[in-house]
Amino acid sequence: MSTSPEPGQSTFSRPACPGCGEPWLRPTQLPGRFRCVNCLQRFELVSQCPDCGTHQTIVRMSVDQDLRCQECGSSMLRVL
Ligand SMILES: [Zn+2]
Ligand SMILES: [Zn+2]
Repeated sequence: MSTSPEPGQSTFSRPACPGCGEPWLRPTQLPGRFRCVNCLQRFELVSQCPDCGTHQTIVRMSVDQDLRCQECGSSMLRVL
């Protein structure tokens, strides 16, 4: 039994980790939760921008966007 490679992962850019800046955020088993495999920090995707307060529509489990506020560009990830 071998682990099959993730299909179609080569073309989309992963969001950068707010902690270390490296694009190693991976979704966890929990919806809206991410973990950086580089610095091992865990993050939660919030629905309201912590910077400007704009309420965002969360695209569930989507990692093909950079998880930033559409208004001010702040990260919508909160450190857990
Ligand atoms: Zn990191
Ligand atoms: Zn904002």
